[in-house]
Order: sequence, then structure tokens, then C-alpha cells
Amino acid sequence: MEPILIENVLLNEKSTNILIENSMITGIGTQIPMPVNAIRIDGRGKAAFPSFANMHTHAAMTLLKGLGSDLPLQQWLNDSIWPAEKHLDGEAVYWGAKLACLEMIKSGTTLFNDMYFHLPNAAKAVAEMGIRGILGINVFGDGDELTDDSFRQLRDQVEGASDLLKISIAPHSVYTVSEKGLVHCAEMSHRYGTIYQIHMSETEKEVQDCLATHNCRPYELLERTGVLELTEGRLVGAHSLYLSREEIALMARHHVTATHNPASNLKLGSGYRFLYSELREAGVNVTLGTDGSASSNNLDMIEAARLMSYLQKGVRQDPTVLPTTELMKVVSENGFKAAGINAGRIETGKVADLILVDLENLAFVPMHDTLSGLFYAAHGDAVDTVICNGRIVMHNRHVEGEEEIRTQAFQHARKLRP
Ligand SMILES: [Zn+2]
Repeated sequence: MEPILIENVLLNEKSTNILIENSMITGIGTQIPMPVNAIRIDGRGKAAFPSFANMHTHAAMTLLKGLGSDLPLQQWLNDSIWPAEKHLDGEAVYWGAKLACLEMIKSGTTLFNDMYFHLPNAAKAVAEMGIRGILGINVFGDGDELTDDSFRQLRDQVEGASDLLKISIAPHSVYTVSEKGLVHCAEMSHRYGTIYQIHMSETEKEVQDCLATHNCRPYELLERTGVLELTEGRLVGAHSLYLSREEIALMARHHVTATHNPASNLKLGSGYRFLYSELREAGVNVTLGTDGSASSNNLDMIEAARLMSYLQKGVRQDPTVLPTTELMKVVSENGFKAAGINAGRIETGKVADLILVDLENLAFVPMHDTLSGLFYAAHGDAVDTVICNGRIVMHNRHVEGEEEIRTQAFQHARKLRP
């Protein structure tokens, strides 16, 4: 892989050069070596930031966006989403995942944590697009179909497609997976060292139902059944909205990652109760996601970050909560950390996952503070260049194969309408 040299780019408000070699950031400064064989990127009029980690989504669901808007959750699932999903075959998931990756690249995301079906098809799509994906095997009920053989076969297909892909185990939730299934998945996650991704405490009803069925709250159920211990440091709890103080302590003790999905929670009327400050103070790794586009309608992490920040400030009546430097950690470094990747900061010795934003975008005119411009004024379309693992996946907003992805996405989406 040829080195990449980004020249005269704004980094932390100062003009500098960034050198990338063998997927790592190897030099930052005005006096760094400039290898003659380097691909040169003119960074004038651009600012560099770490790229984003979308830690909870269902990529291929982007083909369903706009179906059943404004319906109550159960009716939305029963009448719109589940009937459409019956028509989603491997080919549709492939193009849906391609479309999702295209949107993620165009808005600055280079890592996403997914939960869906037809994993080999999704893996092929993500590999072709050149970004990172953690693809979760969706499990329901007792999870009997998840065996060592079926796992190994899927793992080989997913991880064999690209070095940037990882497989994970994703029991859907405590209300759709039995106790036996939750433990079975945890044992598999332990045996193979994978992430264990699960929807947790998304609604108040889910918590009440868990209390009625299991006589404890969702995270307490995971502790009682030994799941938290088996998945130590590898559990990603998507949503994690309705938590007790005891549950937050359990999450901290077992190094759980919580993934907040503000757009999805608001649009589905799940209520707003994300306990950011409490989780952070307890030492829980807080990350951000969009959820699938069926509920969030886009995969724009800048928008998700802005929503999270404004909601936290508004609900707590405190504008000092979640300042932009902390928001950058939530949207990038914390997600990469959960995935075991040494990225999320632009520093020498870090993995080269980064973006350049266009400072001619009106969000940055005039510009007093680039981070404020990025999170409080810009949208995903301010992203001009995306580098993932030391490779350029977008430059001047051009992504290879975009036209075909659009055409195929329209065709496959048409077949899904009830
Ligand atoms: Zn979800």
C-alpha cells in the first residue's frame, strides 16, 4: 500500500501535514518526511477529524426507510417492517448493505456494528466498499440453529471476505430470546471471543415485562444468568435507556459498552431517558449509533451526535453537559475501543481512520471553532474525504460504483412494498 501524505490540513485549529504508512498514522507536523511515492492530498481548505463509529445499526434496512412512518411500534413492525422483510433475500441484503456503506462513507463513518440476516451477502458488500463492519448473527428463541459448525462456517465467510470484517453474536433482546438462548449465545461469544450485541432496555414496557416474567430488570437478568461474566468487556447493549442505578453499576463492573441511538428512540416514541452523565461517571463506555434506517431514516452520525448533545443539554437544563471534545470521543474513539481497534484520534501511532471536511461548506463560514462547526452546524455532506485503515475510500465526495448502487437499490426496494 502506498503512503498517503495530507498536506496543509487543519488539525486542532493548526495547519499541518499528516503522513499515513501501512494503515498507521506515522507522522504529524510541518517538518515530517515526505516519501516520494506518497499519494498526495491537498488539505488546504479542509479540516481533519477522526472518522465515526456507528455502534448500532441494521445496515440493509436502509432499503426499508420511509415504510410505515408515524405508526406505533408494534403496528409499524407487524404491518410494515416484518411483511417487507419477508421479501428481503440475500441479493437485496447485498445491495442494501452497499447502499448503507455508501451513505456511511459519504457522512464520515468507517466502522459499523451490525445485526441482521444473510451475513455472507452483507460481508461481500462491506468488503467491496472498503470500510469496517462487525456483522452480528441475529439470534431469536433458544438459538438452537447457532452451533459450532454454523458459527465457524459463517465466521469464515464473513472474516474471509476482508481483514476489516469481524463476526459477532447478536441475540436480539431479552424479550425475543429465551434465558437458555441468552446463555447459549454468551457461551459461544466466550468460546470464540466475539462481541455480544443485544438490544437492551429500549422501552419502559420491556423493563416491566422483564420484571413480570423474570422478576428482575434486563441487565440484572444478564447478571443472574452469568451472561455478563461470560461476555466481560465484549457486551454492547444497544439503547440501554431505562436503567436503574444498580444496573449502571453492573454495566461498569462488567465493562459493558452502551450504545445510544437518539434518532430511533425519538421517532419510535420510546421516550427519552438516556443517562449519559451517570453512565460516564460510573465508567461505562458510552458510544453512539443510528440504529437501522427503517427507524432512524438515515445513517448520519453528525446528526446523531447533534441530537444526543442537544437532548442531554436540554433535558438536564445544563449547556455544559457533553462538550464537543467529549462528543468526539463518544462518536469515534469509544466505538473503536469497543471493537478493539486503536483508532479514533489523529495521533502518531494510531490506526489511520480519518476524515477531511470541506471548510467551504457554509457550516464552517465563518469559522471560530471547527469542532463546533462539525457537530452543531454541519451535516454528513460536509465530509469530503474518507480514509479507512490507511486507504482512501472517498475523495472529493466521489465513491467508486455509486451510480450502480443507486439503481440497484431502487430496484430491490420496489420489491419490498407490501
Ligand atoms: Zn436496533
